[in-house]
Parts: sequence; structure tokens; C-alpha cells
Amino acid sequence: MTFIKIVSHHFQAIGVTSSDNHISRGIVRNMDIFEKVKHFTQAKEAMELGIYPYFLPLQNSEGTTAIFEGHEVIMIGSNNYRGLTTHPKVRQAAMDAIKVYGTSCTGSRFLNGTLELHLELERRLARFMGSEAALTFTTGYQANVGTISALVTKGDYVICDKEDHASIVDGCLMSYGEMRRFSHNDVNSLDTMLSRLPVEAGKLVIVDGVYSMGGDIAPLPELVTICKKHGARIMVDDAHSIGVLGNGRGTAAHFGLENEVDIVMGTFSKSLASVGGYISGNADVLHYVQHHARALMFSASLPPANAATVLACLDIIEAEPAIIEQLWDNAEYMRTNLKQLGYDTGRSNTPIIPLIIGDDVRTALAWRALANEGVYANPVVPPGVPAHMSLLRTSYTATHRREHLDKALHILEEVGHRLDLIPPAGEAHKVTATQADIG
Ligand code: PMP
Repeated sequence: MTFIKIVSHHFQAIGVTSSDNHISRGIVRNMDIFEKVKHFTQAKEAMELGIYPYFLPLQNSEGTTAIFEGHEVIMIGSNNYRGLTTHPKVRQAAMDAIKVYGTSCTGSRFLNGTLELHLELERRLARFMGSEAALTFTTGYQANVGTISALVTKGDYVICDKEDHASIVDGCLMSYGEMRRFSHNDVNSLDTMLSRLPVEAGKLVIVDGVYSMGGDIAPLPELVTICKKHGARIMVDDAHSIGVLGNGRGTAAHFGLENEVDIVMGTFSKSLASVGGYISGNADVLHYVQHHARALMFSASLPPANAATVLACLDIIEAEPAIIEQLWDNAEYMRTNLKQLGYDTGRSNTPIIPLIIGDDVRTALAWRALANEGVYANPVVPPGVPAHMSLLRTSYTATHRREHLDKALHILEEVGHRLDLIPPAGEAHKVTATQADIG
């Protein structure tokens, strides 16, 4: 078989014919790597219809409100759970760090990018989490990708919940181990899956503490028991739980399981009002990750202002524990009222409250109508959520005042009726199928 025939045969095998594979009359032309660009039209079509909701700039955002498309909106689409991004002490700490250290470390932690400030932050995080050690990364995404790909090697298994965050999935794909996924929050599914894996293989189970779209909490006590039964280690992504659950210390603390979870991952980009991420756990495990995580070793370290911001936030979280009650009061107020209006909030039991709509286009239209009326929420469509489960992700902060929430509810009621997202006024709320389906 000639080379051209082999190539042609290969293209046919993957469903490409010789007329479109650039092989004709013995001449092989290169397939342009940019070919796919021409076929990606969905975003542009949505832009033309005025319902494209992504990458749009906020002119200003002080946390509870923002300026969007020139007018004020109530912000119910942020992860600023403790409302600390504009706290005077936090701002000051960031500015002071810039005065002392400048704006960047211009290098990785591994080489010139470690400051005493990073080590102070790691000691402080370990104390806060009640763990032996903590290790910081430049983003939460890198914390997951770096940790998972460092620990899970050839012959190992990494087992994830189907609704785990994309950074966990990417970490698994980057590792040399085998990935398995169990049904969302389904402890029996995990048990069965683990029982089918080779007993002698290394196993790491990874779950989100609070699921970023569904706003539900992982059943950690059961998960821990199952992991122990099968000799698996457990890692919890607490991106949405730090500052929110367990007096701010996350999901393990919420369940009193601080000594049972092997690795906790957290991000600085939500309650801790900065950018960056960390893992906490056993000192030797972290020492190993520190010397094997490529996302840590080959990327510049956390800028000083971001590290100082986190230290200031931890001071405030420890000094003002009552802030967390405001966060939960606001979340419960909204959950109760949204359900009463007839919105399908799925299984949320945290400050993340999805409004499940199902259809992608209706979700985009609802987002557009809310933004026009003065509410900023986040539309989420597949692959962010399973097919037919498109939703508006709403989330609440400790600094929302009742008037913000009431105004948002009023607009959600009006838009909900206008777009037929909720039952007509006065009609009892019917539980829809989706309430049982989403986690
Ligand atoms: N894990 C979860 C559950 C998240 O929601 C996010 C951010 N959306 C991350 C990890 C990544 O964190 P970061 O934004 O710090 O990169």
C-alpha cells in the first residue's frame, strides 16, 4: 500500500472522504489546523440575537451591585460569599504588599518566586484548616491540576463524582492514571465502582465539597467510610465551602471530619477575595506534591498583593465569625422566596441557588431579561450542566442587604411570569422532575 493510500484509508476510517481530506490526484495537502474555526458559529449567532451572555465587561463592581451595560444591577452572580473584595482592611493589605514587594515575583515558587509572605500564608492556612501543612498555587485550577497529576501515576485510579469541577477532570486527564466517574453524590455507585478496582492499586477519590452549579453538599461521612473500606484516599475540593461551611473551614469541618479527609483543596478566588489556590493536608504528601506538581513548578508564583489579601481575609474571618450568619440568613431568605415563587432550585442547600430552566435558549432569554431589568445572574448551559438542565446560577453574599434581595426577588418574579419560568401568581408550586434530577 502506498503512503497516500494508507493516509486515505485512515481518513476513511475516521469518516473523512478524499474529496474533503485534501488528498487528490496523488497530492497531499496539509489539513489546516484552523479549519474548525470556520465551523464554530454558535457564539456569533447568539451575539447577533443579542443573547450572548459571556465575556461581557462589568463597568464597576463593588460586590453586591455592579454597573453592567451602563446601568446598575443587583449582583447575584459572584462568588464573593463573605463580601470581602472591597473590605477596607483587605484593600489596604493588598496596597501595602505592593508598596513592600512590588507587583510580581516574576518567577516560580521553585526558583526566585518564593517570598517569606508565601511561607507565612502557608503556615497561616495550615493553622486555619487544622492541618499539618498547606501549599499555595497561583490559581485554584492549578492547585487541582498540579496535585492530581502529581499524585496519580501509572497503575493508579482516580475516581470522581460526575459533577466534579472541570479543573479536577483536567487534572485526571493530565495524570498517567485511569479515571472513573461515579453518579453524582451516589455513595452506592462509588462503593460498587471501588469494589471492582484491583485491590492492590492506588486509589484517589475526589469530590467537590459544595457543587458549584447545583449548590448541594457532598455526603462526606458516607464517602469517607466507603473510601476507608476500599483503602482509597479522599480529596475534597472546597472552592465553594471555604468561608461558607464549618465556620469557614470547609466541608470536613462542617461534618467534624477534619482528620478523615486526606487532602483539602481551596481557592482564594471566592470567599478569600483574591486569586490563587491551595491544598492542605499531611506534610509529607504536600512535600511530594511540591516537588512533582508541574503546575506549581513551571508557573510564576502568587503575586504579593494576592497573598496579602488572603492573610487579611483570614484575619477578618477569624475576628468576625458573625459574618457567616449573614451569609446563611441571606441564602435561606432567597431559597425560601425563590421556591415560593415557583422556581425549581434543585437540591441546593448552600448560598449557591440554581434556577433550573432546562432549555438553553430559554435560559439565555431569561438571563437577557433579568440583566435588562437590573439583575445579574449567570446562565449555565451544557457542558457546564447535563443536557436539558440549563440553569441560571444565582449566589448570595454576606453583604447583600435585604433591599438588594427584595429588589432581585421582585424582578425575578416579574421576569419569571413574563417568560413563563414560574407558575402564574397564586398557583401552588409544583415540584418538577428536574428537582429530583440535579445535584
Ligand atoms: N474548583 C471549583 C469547584 C471551582 O468552582 C473553581 C472555580 N470556579 C475552581 C476549582 C478553580 O478555582 P480558581 O478560580 O481559583 O482557578
